[in-house]
Amino acid sequence: ETPLLEIKELQTGFKIGKNYYNAVEKVSLKVDRRKIVGIVGESGCGKSVMSLSVMQLLPQGIGKIRGGEIKFEGRNLENLSEREMNKIRGKDISMIFQEPMTALNPVFTIGYQIEEVLLNHEKIDKKEARKKSIALLKSVGIPRPESIVEEYPHQLSGGMRQRVMIAMAIACQPKLLIADEPTTALDVTVQAQILELLKDIQEVNDMAIIMITHDLGVVSEICDEVIVMYAGKIVERTDVIELFENPKHPYTQLLMHAIPKMDEEVETLATIDGLVPSIQKMPQTGCRFANRCPKAMPECTKITPLLAEDEPGHEVACILYENSKQPEGVGER
Ligand code: SF4
Ligand code: MG
Repeated sequence: ETPLLEIKELQTGFKIGKNYYNAVEKVSLKVDRRKIVGIVGESGCGKSVMSLSVMQLLPQGIGKIRGGEIKFEGRNLENLSEREMNKIRGKDISMIFQEPMTALNPVFTIGYQIEEVLLNHEKIDKKEARKKSIALLKSVGIPRPESIVEEYPHQLSGGMRQRVMIAMAIACQPKLLIADEPTTALDVTVQAQILELLKDIQEVNDMAIIMITHDLGVVSEICDEVIVMYAGKIVERTDVIELFENPKHPYTQLLMHAIPKMDEEVETLATIDGLVPSIQKMPQTGCRFANRCPKAMPECTKITPLLAEDEPGHEVACILYENSKQPEGVGER
């Protein structure tokens, strides 16, 4: 079976001054139907850039796909016209973001906005669209949907707004939902409810989800597979149980320690010193995590680790693992 989404050696660059710098560096991944794949890493690791590349929504004249390919159900998305891509967006692939207030239009009612999505993609009339939007709101756990359709985004709480966004995103039963930090702005209780809802609608609607997050706690709640990204590259990939039992990459191990506890407000990844290198200052050889890695050795700045299987079904890119080592100048640069 063709994977739902297949990304091969994707390179996405951003223009700074006259030059392009890659924010995503040769990333390959597959998302199978009905799977929930987590992409984890701090901000600046390329997670959102990757999803914007999939949606073909990179800022024009600034962001650019510079290599590799993105296939959805076997079709290369880069070859599609804007019109064809518009059909896919919102219908086959849809997206939810961290702050629904920026995605919802403050001057239109909730009902109007959901109905717009439906009327854009389906052959139904306004009356049917209204009926359907009420049913959708109900399906995402919004009480009194008949009156909520008449309300404006600012009249709802953050959690309710995120539910509305989810209703809009699933309105046309997409095959893939990309959720970019959907619960980050919410308090812990609401966060848990939204994750529960996403899990439910994934099952009911038979869709796949890419869950982008900086929080491994979120991953443990709902994901099947996990990809850990650092500075534009995948550093570890395996299924969720294996990752939590046997995290191999030093970066993943640090992320584990940074999982926020239910009872305390933890500053995001406060335990990892230093910052993700900016895309202009990316080291060209060696491990990109070397300046922050507690296990770094002198070779780490000389050998570029290769993402390779250390055990069946568990890939890691760190030279602590034999298969990640490669002779200098071979393979990736
Ligand atoms: Fe740390 Fe070296 Fe492994 Fe990079 S290659 S993660 S610096 S030990
Ligand atoms: Mg982001």
